[in-house]
Amino acid sequence: MTATILDGNALGQKLRAGFRQRAEELAAQGVRPGLAVILVGDDPASQVYVRNKVNACAQAGFHSEKHVYPADIEARTVFARIAGLNADPKIHGILVQLPLPRHFDADAVLEAIAPEKDVDGFRAENVGVLVQGHPRFIPCTPYGVMKFFEEAGIPLKGREAVVVGRSNIVGKPMAMLLMHAGATVTVCHSQTRDLEAHCRRADILVAAVGKAKMISGEMIKPGAAVIDVGMNRLADGKLCGDVDFALAREVAAFITPVPGGVGPMTITMLLANTLQSAERAASA
Ligand code: NDP
Repeated sequence: MTATILDGNALGQKLRAGFRQRAEELAAQGVRPGLAVILVGDDPASQVYVRNKVNACAQAGFHSEKHVYPADIEARTVFARIAGLNADPKIHGILVQLPLPRHFDADAVLEAIAPEKDVDGFRAENVGVLVQGHPRFIPCTPYGVMKFFEEAGIPLKGREAVVVGRSNIVGKPMAMLLMHAGATVTVCHSQTRDLEAHCRRADILVAAVGKAKMISGEMIKPGAAVIDVGMNRLADGKLCGDVDFALAREVAAFITPVPGGVGPMTITMLLANTLQSAERAASA
């Protein structure tokens, strides 16, 4: 079997065309969706992510602004900026690029964002309503993964789903969304005994660890849908996922590539959340 590739660039483009249309409809009511991105420090990967997010906004016809600070900035400057953005009617989404430098209390920074502008969905209150099953914003990466399942018609009800990784931004919300969609979910992490055995019985396997090619072809159940969230930079500068793609694609029924899979969908769903926030503001 050679797996069907789940193409995040293609699905992202399709969804973004629809967002552009909705943004034009909002513009006719005098509202332009607006995203503010805050970047602290000079981490090269974060700079690329922020640039991609700002560019995606421009292409979709959204307003966007970038607020960049040196790593040694005082936290109160960032809090003051967030307070200003919370009150700014041009801004419907505020994103603080993680990770923050060590002297920041990242949880406190995220909590400073107004819940109705927390388009990453990371604030405790927004995590809470996601767990309760009526999310205000679905965190962008797992939201993008759910769109792959929807688009490809991959059933989730009653199926075995295994999520490898339990971070607040990917693994935990991913597991919650899969559970709400009717899958039976196992969450694996660094203390899991016999990861291979768990992976091998997964109809749906989501890898979100950050270790290049740690999921081998033998760990995949024939016919599984394999979603590779991992983004790892190899010594030669190339990007690769957590899954050994060349081997896994011979076993799985569906697989996402890296790059070109989950990454573009994460940015697409950031646009979706910003647009939704603007639509809510317009109808309030
Ligand atoms: P974190 O480092 O926050 O979490 C990694 C998780 O992997 C932890 O739960 C950790 O377990 C688990 N883990 C570590 N080693 C093992 C192991 N040997 N076996 C099983 N589980 C293990 O990472 P993130 O969730 O933030 O990101 C994961 C990956 O996804 C990264 O490569 C990141 O770059 C990528 N990413 C990609 C995005 C995209 O848009 N494509 C968006 C966000 C992230 P424990 O909790 O026990 O430490």
